[in-house]
Amino acid sequence: MEIIRADHYATCFGVDRALEMTTEELKSEEALYCYGELIHNNDVLESLKAKGLQIVNDLSGIKDSSLVIRSHGVGQSVYSECVKNNIRIIDATCPKVKRIHGIVLQYCEDNYDIIIFGNKDHPEVEGIKGWCDKKTFIYSDLNDYETNHNFVGNNTCIVFQTTYNINKYNEIKEFFYSLNNNAIIVKDTVCRATELRQEAAKKLAVECDSVLVIGGKQSSNTKKLYEICKELCDNTYWIENADEIPYDLIKNSKKIGITAGASTPLGIVEEVIVNVRTKRNA
Ligand code: SF4
Repeated sequence: MEIIRADHYATCFGVDRALEMTTEELKSEEALYCYGELIHNNDVLESLKAKGLQIVNDLSGIKDSSLVIRSHGVGQSVYSECVKNNIRIIDATCPKVKRIHGIVLQYCEDNYDIIIFGNKDHPEVEGIKGWCDKKTFIYSDLNDYETNHNFVGNNTCIVFQTTYNINKYNEIKEFFYSLNNNAIIVKDTVCRATELRQEAAKKLAVECDSVLVIGGKQSSNTKKLYEICKELCDNTYWIENADEIPYDLIKNSKKIGITAGASTPLGIVEEVIVNVRTKRNA
């Protein structure tokens, strides 16, 4: 039996950074709040909660304390509220998301309209929207834009959720470039971490006769990896950790592929690999 890892898998730079910052902070803070779930992984969250991390979805009742802002980032109003209530911020916003905040703020101040392509219910998109208090429009894709954008502004800046599909991004960019309108600025704000993991998952699924996709059940990027692999390799299983390895279903596999979502720490992946190696034929 051979175990093959995807070329790109597990936590991205932004999530690793947020985890490191929070873990470091938990060494000295008695109570530490986090604005929303730090990471979509139950095992990691439970371990952080055991060390004192408290997840909150709003700041009511919090004062004179410390708060982690996760990699997704938040709108400007959260920073203002923290200042008002003497809350120290541990800002783990991914630098790639922070860059979008800066773009939106600058163009908003210059009186541009802002268009965000992404999922309007995603916290990252809500956070981006929170850096422009003027005209901001959110669309899921080009079709959504063409159907619903009944407003034509003079100056418009277009940004994308970092996890936006790269093919759709290219399609949208081409569409706006074809308008030949200098008043429309398209900014490439897509992060390649997701795309790299998806491309690597495709390659893995073709190569292997079973695939284990590791990641939290609420993680949308893990779900996407699972769907990609399942389509190409029917023996694909989505597990959260080593306790869920389907030994019976992989016992005859010659090549077992391993991939993991961007919120799955390497430690969990290694544990799965060790368990598959030692227990599969036990
Ligand atoms: S996916 Fe990209 S933008 Fe999002 S946290 Fe990871 S590195 Fe940052």
